[in-house]
Amino acid sequence: MILVLEKEITQEQKNRILSTLRTDGCIVREMSEAGQCVIGAIGKAGHDAGFFQQLPGVARVVPISTSFKLVSRQLHHEDTTVQVGDVVIGGEHIVVIAGPCAIESRDQAMTIAREVRRYGAVLFRGGAFKPRSSPYSFQGLGEEGLKILAEVREEVGLGVVTEITSPAQADMMMKYVDVVQVGARNMQNFELLKCVGRLGKPVLLKRGLAATIEEWLMSAEYILSEGNDHVVLCERGIRTFEPYTRNTLDLSAIPVLKKLTHLPVIIDPSHATGMREKVSPMARAAIAAGADGLMIEVHHDPDKALSDGPQSLYPKQFGQLMRNIHVIAPVVGKQLDFGLLDKAAAVDHLSKAKGKGVQRAAFLGEIGTFSHKACSQYFGTKVTSVPMSSFRAIFQAVKEGEADFGVVPLENSLTGSIHENYDLLLEYDLKIIGEITLRIMHHLVGHPGAKIESIKRVFSHPQVFQQCRQFLDRHDRWELISTRDTATAVKRIQKGRDLTDAAIASKEAADMHGMEVMEEGIEANPRNYTRFVVIGTERLENGPRRKSSLIYSTGDQPGALYETLKVFAEQGINLVKLESRPIHGKPWEYMFYIDIQADVEADSFKPVLDALGKKTDYLKILGSY
Ligand code: PEP
Ligand code: MN
Repeated sequence: MILVLEKEITQEQKNRILSTLRTDGCIVREMSEAGQCVIGAIGKAGHDAGFFQQLPGVARVVPISTSFKLVSRQLHHEDTTVQVGDVVIGGEHIVVIAGPCAIESRDQAMTIAREVRRYGAVLFRGGAFKPRSSPYSFQGLGEEGLKILAEVREEVGLGVVTEITSPAQADMMMKYVDVVQVGARNMQNFELLKCVGRLGKPVLLKRGLAATIEEWLMSAEYILSEGNDHVVLCERGIRTFEPYTRNTLDLSAIPVLKKLTHLPVIIDPSHATGMREKVSPMARAAIAAGADGLMIEVHHDPDKALSDGPQSLYPKQFGQLMRNIHVIAPVVGKQLDFGLLDKAAAVDHLSKAKGKGVQRAAFLGEIGTFSHKACSQYFGTKVTSVPMSSFRAIFQAVKEGEADFGVVPLENSLTGSIHENYDLLLEYDLKIIGEITLRIMHHLVGHPGAKIESIKRVFSHPQVFQQCRQFLDRHDRWELISTRDTATAVKRIQKGRDLTDAAIASKEAADMHGMEVMEEGIEANPRNYTRFVVIGTERLENGPRRKSSLIYSTGDQPGALYETLKVFAEQGINLVKLESRPIHGKPWEYMFYIDIQADVEADSFKPVLDALGKKTDYLKILGSY
């Protein structure tokens, strides 16, 4: 059961409730849900709910209706995240674990690890103890394999995941690996589950070959009941009557689990399909269906692999899959960040160099705006987001060192460029050090229970009204009131307590202020994306640097712009954006803003810059990222 406590509860009352529950034989977990203190009590209590209901300090007692308790979303509404070094599973980033089925040699593991890291995998997998159907098949290198995994972590910088097949391996696992995997065949090996529950390392729990979702969650419950909450569920296909694939991937498990449990869910399409050509389509589908990540088998020479070669992707195929996932992720509100590990290391490096703790990133508006989301999706938990009141204030704060970074929108796919920021990029001497694209979904947000027919006034940012034009035209009697940002709009209607007021904002902003989504996705075009750039005073060490931004002006003679573009064309450099802005004080003269796919800060780019310098009157490098 769940005990929701009164806001004004005293420590003494709380202690009494806790000790009553413990003497009653319950496992007790204290939590905070939406700012309210709750106690989860698991086990057969000696007293009934009515007894606890009348204890001083208890506001409500809610029974947990499912057989699994600690893993249940009824007990813990918010998503659990599992942290492995700089990698957070279950957060806003898609986490991809990749590597061979089995560790075969040091060379094999290093080669594959370098390849998968290059393509954006953030954790490395590889079995050292292999549970094989046949006793005559390769059984894994045992401890030798674990040592190789530890070397991979040191040399390639990827956290490592491997399967534990017996409690006897617990000490070895502690010594060498970051995440222990409980394989499909061991999902109901209860002694092993209890063992990993006590291990204190994150656990990746695969679904059994013929396990129901409830049985699977009960297995997770074993791990949590031993005190380990760091559990990731991994669907890897179940046995059905269908022989065309090795197993049948149960993709519907994703939404089912998301409703039932707070634990992160990842998909292993390799074991689910058993065939290389089927892996990528199912991986893409898994991300579209809401999975938090993927576990993919990759081998540089699958024909010679000692296990599961036919289902292992070639590194290049894996790279292509990652590019596709990178595109799909923002559609479902997430990110696949190719440079996640490098970026985390760079932020740490910068913190050390500046001799201070947590870095600060400034964004426009309130917590709950898309700018805030861009900020938190770009930096994850590494950096604190700081709200600012204007774009200029962000540039100024970064310039003066009040903030270490700034996150500003540059262009929207429906409404075009945010010119103010282009002008500020020219004015301030700051660098672009990164970029992030978000899908923008707008919802009509109102008070709980309010009816759309009674809405009279709608609050939001003017650009948002523009993006929702068609929807608003259908309600032409509504008065539209501009606010600084979308989160402010929601706050404003919440404070006003008028059921005829609504706001247009994100779901996050609605949730944050206890408001409800009245109508989902009201933007005119669902392909509504905003590209944000991250600004700073210095470039990030080891950043990805796939793209660069420049500003320049040319002389006023025929072919002047063409001459500059020719420099890129002759060097085979791909131009991804060209924008012009009027030069202040010089009517009808323009600055050109150029994005190219190249690292302008690399030594090899120097001759191109020299050539460009000769063809331009003014040239400013905004940065490579
Ligand atoms: C594996 O991940 O290599 C493996 C053996 O998986 P499963 O337990 O899902 O068969
Ligand atoms: Mn395998």
